[in-house]
Amino acid sequence: MHHTQVVVVGAGYAGVAAANRIAREGAAHVTVVNPRDEFVERIRLHQHAARTESAVRPLRSVLRPEVALHVGTATRVAGDGVELADGGDLAADRVVHAVGSGAPRSLPGALSVQHLPGATALRDRLDAAAPGTPVTVVGGGLTGIETAAEIAEGRPHLVVRLVASTLAGGLSDAGRDVLRRALAALGVEVREGERVDHVGEGITVDSTSFTVPDLARASGLAVDEAGRLRVDESLRSVQVPTIVAAGDAAATTARWSCQAALPLGIAAATTVLAELRGQEPPAASVGFTATCVSLGRRRGLVQPSELDDTPRGRVLGGRTAALVKEQICRGTVWLARHPSPLFTRAGDLPLVPAWEAA
Ligand SMILES: Cc1cc2nc3c(=O)[nH]c(=O)nc-3n(C[C@H](O)[C@H](O)[C@H](O)COP(=O)(O)OP(=O)(O)OC[C@H]3O[C@@H](n4cnc5c(N)ncnc54)[C@H](O)[C@@H]3O)c2cc1C
Repeated sequence: MHHTQVVVVGAGYAGVAAANRIAREGAAHVTVVNPRDEFVERIRLHQHAARTESAVRPLRSVLRPEVALHVGTATRVAGDGVELADGGDLAADRVVHAVGSGAPRSLPGALSVQHLPGATALRDRLDAAAPGTPVTVVGGGLTGIETAAEIAEGRPHLVVRLVASTLAGGLSDAGRDVLRRALAALGVEVREGERVDHVGEGITVDSTSFTVPDLARASGLAVDEAGRLRVDESLRSVQVPTIVAAGDAAATTARWSCQAALPLGIAAATTVLAELRGQEPPAASVGFTATCVSLGRRRGLVQPSELDDTPRGRVLGGRTAALVKEQICRGTVWLARHPSPLFTRAGDLPLVPAWEAA
């Protein structure tokens, strides 16, 4: 008898949540393909670089026992399976495309905390740096801010500056004030309205943008400008509907974030499960709750948001916010292990971009 096969490509937040949710229903045999047998908590990679927290744990420890793990790299995704770099392939009735995002290529020679090898290389450079070495973090988004703060706190003998064309553009003015005060207290020099176009003296960290692995484009699938898989409202590839995308690798309107990747992973699983039952899947939906920023281990920022991610209400700073953020980081791993739709907030954010709806 043919046993239904689901292959999940990429074991980040979205892929692990999708795999566990599909496997729990017992509707299919689920195999996860990931280049390493470790789960990388990407939201802690700046902490890994600063040696303030670990960001890596065994992948098996976050997967349900019935999920099979294939350590390898997918080189092609198709509607009926996946080709692997080791020459093998895995046949599938449904493929979940969840390869996430990675390092920018905009600043040659700079290091990056966007993926584990980059964060480890940065950690080694920081370990070897003499007192007074300048560390320039480029990019005023949340990753750049968290990275500058973490290094300044963890390595107080280094001189950390943050260069940002805009500082935390998505936050309220009150939120930005909390950030500026915390960065100043940590001794981070913030240069707003400036750009960096080459790597200078000391250590440079590029946090300007995310990029997506080339896998979907190289597989000949319809992608957006960033290389994310173009999907319908149930996260199915517009071209090959047996491929379902989730997380940063799916072309949705949700901010590239762990906060969206987890519910998108659960939504991708809901689509796969509905189709395996012969039902029409519901439209996927994501609702944001808050933007939570860690500023070293002792400070943080919690900015509540509307479901569509626009900031609202009063911001929380200081040690309480640091504790809230730490609990959220722990909660993300728990939710990936126990992915129930009860833990996602359904928003009214239209997930399919305008070009697709038109
Ligand atoms: C330092 C830092 C701090 C962050 N902080 C926050 C935060 O506070 N809140 C928040 O919401 N977001 C945060 N983010 C963003 C968040 O980490 C990402 O948006 C999130 O990880 C996306 O999840 P994902 O499951 O889509 O992909 P990822 O977590 O990137 O996982 C993708 C997986 O796919 C694997 N993969 C890639 N290519 C292949 C292939 N060809 N074959 C097989 N496997 C493959 C990768 O190795 C990886 O394991 C932060 C990011 C960084 C770098």
